[in-house]
Amino acid sequence: MSPIIGVLALQGDVREHLAALRASGARATTVRRTTELSEVDGLVIPGGESTTISRLLESFELLEPLRRRIADGMPAYGSCAGMILLASKVLDGREDQHQLGGLDVIVRRNAFGRQVDSFEDDLAFDGVDGPPVHAVFIRAPWVESASPQVEVLARVSDDPDVPGGQVAAGRIVAVRQGPVLATAFHPELTGDTRVHRLFVQMVEGRSRERPLEVGNNETQEGRT
Ligand code: GLN
Repeated sequence: MSPIIGVLALQGDVREHLAALRASGARATTVRRTTELSEVDGLVIPGGESTTISRLLESFELLEPLRRRIADGMPAYGSCAGMILLASKVLDGREDQHQLGGLDVIVRRNAFGRQVDSFEDDLAFDGVDGPPVHAVFIRAPWVESASPQVEVLARVSDDPDVPGGQVAAGRIVAVRQGPVLATAFHPELTGDTRVHRLFVQMVEGRSRERPLEVGNNETQEGRT
C-alpha cells in the first residue's frame, strides 16, 4: 500500500506538491487540521512565506502537534519556506516566527535576495540519479551552517557567473537529516519528480540509511 503523504495547506504552492507526490506513487492529501495531520505518514511543507505559514500554524493550532510529530520521527520535506520552518535557527527572520525543528541547521532567509530575487540553475543532487536537477530559486534561503549529522545533498554557487552544477563548494541548498529533507528551491515547479520520489522512498523507509558521523563537532559551511 502506498504511503499517505500530507501537504501542509495553509499557504503556498500546495497543488503542485500534491501533483508531484501523486506522480511519484504516493497518495497525497491536504493537511489543515490536527486530525488530518495524525492520519499522514509524512508531510510536505511547501514554499510560500515562512512568517505567514508560522502565524497560520499558530491560528490553526497545528504548531505544537506538528512539532511533536516531527520530534517523533515523522518524515518531513520542506521546500524553500518549508526549509526555513524546519531549521532549528533562522537568520534574517522575524523575531516572532516559529521554528518546527527537525533539521539541525542555521538558514538565512532571502539569502540570495541581495543579488537577485529569483534564478534557476542545474544542480548535482546527491541521492538523485540521472541528469542534474533543474532548480528554481524564488527569494530562497540558503543553509548557512549545518551540524555534522546533516547530509549536504546539493550546493549552488552564489556567484551568478559560475554554473551551480560545477561547484564542489558553494551555498548549501539541499539537506537531509534522517527522515527530514529540505531544499531551498522548488522541484514541484519543474515537472521533474525525482526529489519527490526520493521523499516518497524516505516515507516508505526504503532509502538507505547513512551512518551518523561521530566525534566531529565542526559545522559544515556553505561557501564558494
Ligand atoms: N522568502 C520566503 C520566506 O521567507 C520563502 C520564499 C519561497 O518559499 N519561495 O519564507
